[in-house]
Amino acid sequence: MTRLFADSEAQLLGKLGQVLAPDHGLALVGGAVRDALLERPLGDWDLATALRPEEVMTRARQGGFSVIPTGLQHGTVMVMLEGRPVEITSYRGDGDYRDGRRPEVVRFGVTLEEDLARRDFTVNAMALPLEAANDPDWATRLVDPWGGRADLEARLLRAVGDPLQRFAEDGLRPLRACRFAAQLDFEVEAGTLAAIPPRLDVARKVAVERVFQEMTKLLCGQAPARGLRLLERTGLLDLWLAELGPMVGCLQNRHHRFDVWEHTLAVIEALPADPAMRWAGLLHDAGKPMSVSVDAKGERHFYNHETRSGDLAEALLSRLRSSRALIQEVLALVRHHGQHPDPAWSDAACRRFLTRLKRDELPLARWAAFRRGDLLGKGFDRAEALALHERMVTRLETLQARFTAWTAKDLALDGHALAALAQRSPGPWLGRLQGFLLEQVLEDPHLNTPEALARLVGEWGRE
Ligand code: ATP
Ligand code: MG
Repeated sequence: MTRLFADSEAQLLGKLGQVLAPDHGLALVGGAVRDALLERPLGDWDLATALRPEEVMTRARQGGFSVIPTGLQHGTVMVMLEGRPVEITSYRGDGDYRDGRRPEVVRFGVTLEEDLARRDFTVNAMALPLEAANDPDWATRLVDPWGGRADLEARLLRAVGDPLQRFAEDGLRPLRACRFAAQLDFEVEAGTLAAIPPRLDVARKVAVERVFQEMTKLLCGQAPARGLRLLERTGLLDLWLAELGPMVGCLQNRHHRFDVWEHTLAVIEALPADPAMRWAGLLHDAGKPMSVSVDAKGERHFYNHETRSGDLAEALLSRLRSSRALIQEVLALVRHHGQHPDPAWSDAACRRFLTRLKRDELPLARWAAFRRGDLLGKGFDRAEALALHERMVTRLETLQARFTAWTAKDLALDGHALAALAQRSPGPWLGRLQGFLLEQVLEDPHLNTPEALARLVGEWGRE
């Protein structure tokens, strides 16, 4: 195993350990240990200690660290390490869970082993004493009472203890199982998987914000299709994203090898792993099942499914309390995903298309990346279609770089000049005139000069 931390990081953590818990131990726990063993980049450093939260705050402040009491009642204090937030949680045992969301009481003053026992999956229930973190042999010093390391090697997510009980305590855990399966490309161990359907009633109680957060991580993982298949098989999809159900088994036409659901999964995997792309991938064809029609030759069509998918995406993401910015980008991607610019298009048609993207604040590169993913997801050898797409994107880029008159502000004559030429005082007519001029300039960019525009104003006045 390689060293866990860079020298500067090790020094910082060493200082924190000195200040905080020279006598009480401080251990790296949860996700960071898991990711270190997987040799994945470490996300947050989550630390655990036998000290009580109040004591953590006092000592950290005395040591000159700034401290934010983020979740005192659950024993969590956030300490800033040179701008890097580190969560320090006091070892705790969880009392009874009554609401399926959080324990009624938490008990401090327990051992590290008890603390690990309340954690969700064995691969998340390992700890590494901080003083061992600099040892090149750190992996031999793991505290691993639940066999997390063996499960990690077998690439398995297994609940700590009895999965039926653990999923009865907290309805978020089944979704986390699917999320980690997608993030890590792991399988969910059979007993753990079988415990999900009987606990859907508890899962139902999870706050939508948490569902959105976990779903976003699932979608942005390295194996999102795995996570989505798990959601579908266990009934979790029906619980939170029921409107996606009709995609499963919805047959398409000769352009597709897959049904709508399988196509969707393939598209998501082919897209860049960021939230807007992946959510748009999930939702872009969700309106197909309700848009299907069959023509006289028996061919299936999905006319105008972009609109249906957009409506559905907006409703679904709003329900999950997604940010407005994410919704806007997803809607733009969904709205324009069916456009296929073609070599037969004139330059003006291309510029008109670019204007539509601009109106929705969708950068050409984002549209192009989405379309590439959509093509790859059709399941046939798409080399030709892809090459055509790349050529069109290059042409669109060139046209975009050369063209300068996207809005009325870009016209070679401003509103005052136009009003003077038309010999009228400004009013709603001016917007109509500018629209007309922009349309002319879109057809022929050379027309964006004061002289040419003045001539056009004259023509417009006569009409
Ligand atoms: P990441 O931060 O990469 O998303 P993580 O494993 O660090 O993954 P967090 O949500 O940060 O996940 O939680 C930190 C640790 O707390 C987990 O590794 C796990 O041990 C424990 N944990 C988190 N949520 C739960 C839960 N709902 N039930 C039981 N244990 C949990
Ligand atoms: Mg974490």
